[in-house]
Amino acid sequence: MSDFEIKPYPELWRSLDMDVERFDKMRLMMGDMFAKSYLGQQNRPAAMAYFDNMIAEIHGGRVKELLAAKAEGRPVIGTFCVYIPEEIVLAAGGICVGLCGGSQGSVPDAEKILPRNICPMVKSAFGFKAGRICPYFQAVDFVYGETTCDAKKKCWEILDRMVPTYVMEIPQCKQPRDIALWNEEVRDFKTKVEEVAGRAITEADLAQAIKVMNGKRRALQRLNTLRHHSPSPISGKDGLLIEQIAFYDEPLRFTEKVNALCDELEERIKARLAVPGPKATRIMVAGTPMALPNWKIHNLVEGAGAVIVNEESCIGTRYFKDLVDENVTGMEAMLTALTDRYKEIDCSCFTPNDERITQVVKEFRDSGAQGIINYSLQFCHTYNIEEVRIREACEAESIPYMFIESDYSPEDLGQLQTRVEAFLEQVGG
Ligand code: SF4
Ligand code: SF4
Repeated sequence: MSDFEIKPYPELWRSLDMDVERFDKMRLMMGDMFAKSYLGQQNRPAAMAYFDNMIAEIHGGRVKELLAAKAEGRPVIGTFCVYIPEEIVLAAGGICVGLCGGSQGSVPDAEKILPRNICPMVKSAFGFKAGRICPYFQAVDFVYGETTCDAKKKCWEILDRMVPTYVMEIPQCKQPRDIALWNEEVRDFKTKVEEVAGRAITEADLAQAIKVMNGKRRALQRLNTLRHHSPSPISGKDGLLIEQIAFYDEPLRFTEKVNALCDELEERIKARLAVPGPKATRIMVAGTPMALPNWKIHNLVEGAGAVIVNEESCIGTRYFKDLVDENVTGMEAMLTALTDRYKEIDCSCFTPNDERITQVVKEFRDSGAQGIINYSLQFCHTYNIEEVRIREACEAESIPYMFIESDYSPEDLGQLQTRVEAFLEQVGG
């Protein structure tokens, strides 16, 4: 039995007007899930201890840091999408936290208000606020949403009744006129952040924030490249955990810890120390984000003895594959450089979205995977429909391919396990 525990902070939660009794039950369930999914793994890198501790402190330690920042007048902003430029929040001395929901536990709270047949990530996130069962949601000054998909876009109107919610209009195409609109939206976001911070962002602030965020992305790129080594020196579950923690940890500390882990992984590669085993079938996952604590697909795949070596996802490569140009100077040029970088993200909400099809095949080749599992959350129309083109591209390239559409409930686990095992047998031979 593991003695792992997500630490309780009832006084802190009470001060944030949370449903403490209910949240404490969720804490125990998440701690149990984490221990079962993660702590039984063999040969874990020692540097994972930092990330395990980030989970142990997820409901207290990091929240206290957010509240300390607020007490100093620094803005704390919740976001749901990788299109909101974190650099601007950082430049104002603030903290940006990703609020995406990956838990079934908050879905019933959302279903009391929202329709049931929408994406579970939207329901889970909304339910965390409606049920007062997320300290991050309770701590943020405001939420900045976007118009990427219909479910989110319409939820902001209802969410705004519970927490101030602003919306960035993300166009659906990438023509010059769309990019011009996007540029304006990035400038409006800066104005809003400055308003809350009570100070103007200087060129030096923004230049420094761009460097910090690029440093974080470079560390994640380095980790991803090491995962591509065969045999892989780290499990896919651990890779995913780090990508999830990237959305709420302090960027400089996180970068340092990811680089320390990468140093250790380089040593493990030299020593031929593989996780989970040198002959494990290598799988790449593509598709919708897997927000914390959604470890469903990774548990199934790695529970069957394979290893996941790449996530083509927003909680994955879409978050860190592109850098902002650090060579531009002047506020206007830097804001344009931000838009230029963020428009490279190839979310399925865009049309046409040929870049993503090419990118999936590229990442498959780069990662040395033997097959692709394309994963879409239920009722996510854009990813579900884009599946047609991903499947066609895999057929054209003779890439073993499987599609999974699922939600956060455990109901389909048995059926998925049978399908995943059959796919792994076909891929691994
Ligand atoms: S999948 Fe699209 S909408 Fe969702 S977080 Fe990623 S970029 Fe944003
Ligand atoms: S997974 Fe799809 S439906 Fe869900 S929030 Fe992201 S884009 Fe919207």
